Amino acid sequence: MNAEEILEEIAEQVSVCTRCKLHHSRKKAVPGAGNAHADVMFIGEGPGFHENQQGLPFVGAAGNFLDELLGEANLTREEVFITNVVKCRPPGNRDPHVEELEACKPYLERQIAAINPEVIVTLGRFSMAHFINHGKISGIHGKSYWLNGRMVIPMYHPAAALHQPSLRSVVKEDFARIPDLVEGAKEIRRNNPDLAAIAQVESEEDPSDENGAEQLKLF
Ligand code: URA
Ligand code: SF4
Repeated sequence: MNAEEILEEIAEQVSVCTRCKLHHSRKKAVPGAGNAHADVMFIGEGPGFHENQQGLPFVGAAGNFLDELLGEANLTREEVFITNVVKCRPPGNRDPHVEELEACKPYLERQIAAINPEVIVTLGRFSMAHFINHGKISGIHGKSYWLNGRMVIPMYHPAAALHQPSLRSVVKEDFARIPDLVEGAKEIRRNNPDLAAIAQVESEEDPSDENGAEQLKLF
């Protein structure tokens, strides 16, 4: 199966999934949308009201701001892939629970494997926590980490910036650096074809790392 077919299969599975109780509040599942061969994958938290109605990620107020932020990075929705750590809407937009995040994890992992992006940008703390088990977003936003051979950059959630105007310029500046970070990541991956294998070997030797991945700050 090619990347498009795998993403399509995941979308179909998610639409009828009952692995966690969020399926009760689902009108439409939101598997994610965008380019199956994207260099950059953005991972948010979970569908909100409008996303649940339309089955598409980031179509509400936070989505409008995300479009503006993508502009800062000279990116369009067509060339990136946007998804969330949970694919069904938590009732009343509450935070997703640990067991819901765990239940939904395999879908996200399969999407990442199919797309194989150069860079993953996490939006907000739940998405960040999927990859990075240390630090606070206020301290590490915009920094790049290597996990299993791939660059991961935690960023503030666009909705946080909408509620806290002082964060707006911070998020914009982080997004503006994405093109350079992608170029840097491409070059490092080109020059280090064994990067993924090395990160996994190191993680096995480091049981203190619960994420099972070596985190290496490069820039
Ligand atoms: N917020 C998210 O985290 N994801 C969406 O899809 C919409 C809003
Ligand atoms: Fe399944 Fe994820 Fe929806 Fe839970 S949130 S029902 S695990 S698709």
